[in-house]
Amino acid sequence: QTIDQFFDSMVNQVPDNEALVSRHQNIRLSYRQLQRQAKQLASAFLKLGIQRGDRIGIWSHNNAEWLLTQLATAYTGIVLVNINPAYRLSELEYALNKVGCKALIAMPSYKSSDYLEMIRTLAPELQHCTPGSLQAARLPQLQAVIQLGTQPVAGMLRFDDLMASGDADDAQLTQLAASLSANDPINIQFTSGTTGFPKGATLTHRNILNNGFFIGEAMRLTAQDKLCIPVPLYHCFGMVLGNLACLTHGATIVYPNDGFEPLSILQAVQEERCTGLHGVPTMFIAELDHPRFAEFDLSSLRTGIMAGSPCPIEVMKRVVRDMHLEQITIAYGMTETSPVSCQSMTDTPLDKRVSTVGRVHPHLQVKIVDADSGQIVPIGSTGELCTHGYSVMHGYWGDEEKTREAIDADGWMHTGDLATMDGEGYVNIVGRIKDLVIRGGENIYPREIEEFLYRHPAIQDVQVVGVPDPKYGEELCAWIILRPGQTLNDEALREFCKGQIAHYKVPRYIRFVDAFPMTVTGKIQKFKIREAMQKELK
Ligand code: ATP
Ligand code: MG
Repeated sequence: QTIDQFFDSMVNQVPDNEALVSRHQNIRLSYRQLQRQAKQLASAFLKLGIQRGDRIGIWSHNNAEWLLTQLATAYTGIVLVNINPAYRLSELEYALNKVGCKALIAMPSYKSSDYLEMIRTLAPELQHCTPGSLQAARLPQLQAVIQLGTQPVAGMLRFDDLMASGDADDAQLTQLAASLSANDPINIQFTSGTTGFPKGATLTHRNILNNGFFIGEAMRLTAQDKLCIPVPLYHCFGMVLGNLACLTHGATIVYPNDGFEPLSILQAVQEERCTGLHGVPTMFIAELDHPRFAEFDLSSLRTGIMAGSPCPIEVMKRVVRDMHLEQITIAYGMTETSPVSCQSMTDTPLDKRVSTVGRVHPHLQVKIVDADSGQIVPIGSTGELCTHGYSVMHGYWGDEEKTREAIDADGWMHTGDLATMDGEGYVNIVGRIKDLVIRGGENIYPREIEEFLYRHPAIQDVQVVGVPDPKYGEELCAWIILRPGQTLNDEALREFCKGQIAHYKVPRYIRFVDAFPMTVTGKIQKFKIREAMQKELK
């Protein structure tokens, strides 16, 4: 099925269930209301001249308009292009031109209007055109800019005015719906940019709808569930693990805010009685360590997903114990595979749930191979994880060469992640091939050292990377964030390591910092830590 077909069948089952609560906007929509508004927007897109297969970009934080646009594009076969709200001028220009967006919905934040300046700089022609007829030298394919907010801006279309021009019963829409195919590309998502420049993965209805459905199954979502989604929609975590997992199960989507802010999440969970909560590990850490954490009643929580980067065992244990998330699951995946390939289930034994990323998702295959020979490695050995099945992307938009490097002739996606699998099929992510440290010929997995250091009571968060060394090839370096009010020095930390981990795994360089370089998805950019250290050590 296509996303719109599946959603329509859900509307028939639970028309009056709440589909969306967008707290910072004070918006609440039932399934039926969400469907009507999405169809109205779909019709407005068609009237604006945006057609099936055209690309429409959305450069925004989480809000109701985002979800409406996601569904409206599904109704029309327009390809939704998720644009990171943290992108600035040159990245925005790159993304829009790379995939040839015909329209851009621009409303990065309610808190600032600097996005207007950026768009005006890229398209000064806007000031003198009528909305929808833009011809800009730097953005040759872009015809319309749609803006949120009440203040009209010269040359731009207001989102509300656009909506008003649509008709939910538009005959053209009904006709179009019948011609859509589950194999049509429907979405271009950029990867996080954790290891370098983001790549645009082209995904079909079949890719992301199935994945969203099985993610919801792993959490046992039902129409009684309410999922708090603080993770960004522009990324697959919010859009697929959040929106699509909910909408395929009749559950309620709750957006606590339009950016990450721990207090508003705790408030949303308490006030909406949320049953689920998503987050990357750093988000859960910030919530658990919030000075007002103990004031909140989180007893309604049951499940949710921790994913996106390595999930420290200690954090998982605290989340289960202190946030009532007894049925939390870990998911592993990547944008290029829709994204999830492995996930624990709500009833996976706790020790497996905190220490592995679960087992392979239904209808998918995973193998772990020696990256050089391509041979499957023995059970328990480390190798590159490869994924095969419905979830593998169509390709990187406009980049056949990169696509061929990532997906082999037999359709296996080579993830670049190192993993092991045990005899029961549980997968453990050991790290990224790019992060592996080789010191004096010895393979060191930074993740292992991070897990160990994380046990120190003064340490709140830690990242370990390799830095070039003339003698050993590479040396280990740890960046550490201390818990508030705690102190620690190099010597004490080395003492802590002594006799506990092999001498060559004790970091040579230790730095205490206030924050790590991060993507807006909350993922830590180790390459930037490496760069900073190289500069310092030069
Ligand atoms: P880029 O490809 O642009 O460098 P990225 O790989 O971080 O960025 P995403 O597609 O958002 O972009 O993230 C996928 C990656 O995140 C995986 O390849 C893996 O390295 C990491 N990851 C995801 N889930 C987990 C998990 N549960 N445990 C460990 N690592 C994870
Ligand atoms: Mg990647």
